[in-house]
Amino acid sequence: MQEPSEGHPPGDPEHTAFWSKSFEISAVSRDDLVQAGYSQELVQILTDADMQELAVSMGNTYTDTGYWEDLETAAGVAFAEKGTEVLRGNPALAGFVDEDGKLISFTSLGGYPIYYLDTENSILCGTCANEPEQVFKIVAGDVYYEGADLACEGCGNPITSAYGDPAQPDEKP
Ligand SMILES: [Zn+2]
Repeated sequence: MQEPSEGHPPGDPEHTAFWSKSFEISAVSRDDLVQAGYSQELVQILTDADMQELAVSMGNTYTDTGYWEDLETAAGVAFAEKGTEVLRGNPALAGFVDEDGKLISFTSLGGYPIYYLDTENSILCGTCANEPEQVFKIVAGDVYYEGADLACEGCGNPITSAYGDPAQPDEKP
């Protein structure tokens, strides 16, 4: 079984090979061009070098358009297939993962609100943190006991603390 990333920490001679190892996404052939409606007579004038150039051009286009979105969608599926242990295994999320492997929005005891942080330090509500393309980027969760409303960077909805903002005593419940 392949060891996870900690099997090849920086400094390990295998480190760069592990992280930069690439896996083919797709390939284009002359058959594809015929299937797209170009005649064989036309397609056969393209040399292998022309086809290679076409492939690179398509790759560059995908990187600019749908590549990163598609990557997040596919990565969400790949991590989900690893099971609920992926989230449970993160000690920074201990207590915030329910039995279905979902991140909770409120503590089960007391109903305290919870906010989450992703790898880019974005603050997210429980609903947004559970989005399939987002949930495996969540690195930490915390109970929000006291302070002004936080704005969820996903949906914009406020995350209201359990005890309100001490700087505005009038608004205390
Ligand atoms: Zn949200």
